[in-house]
Amino acid sequence: MGIPYEVGDIVTLKKGHPCGSSQWEILRVGADFRLKCLGCGRQVMISRKLVEKNTRGIEKKSE
Ligand SMILES: [Zn+2]
Repeated sequence: MGIPYEVGDIVTLKKGHPCGSSQWEILRVGADFRLKCLGCGRQVMISRKLVEKNTRGIEKKSE
């Protein structure tokens, strides 16, 4: 079973954004995720597989 990603969660990825932040807010989940960089606000689409492979930590929105 994989990590239960949900919209609103904050994920920390092993590979950071060029702006220096490595934290992303999840805007959409599915085969591809839409993530928003918490450093600069830019949005990216990235495959779920790649997110799972690069997740270092996750902060659940509801906790
Ligand atoms: Zn950024």
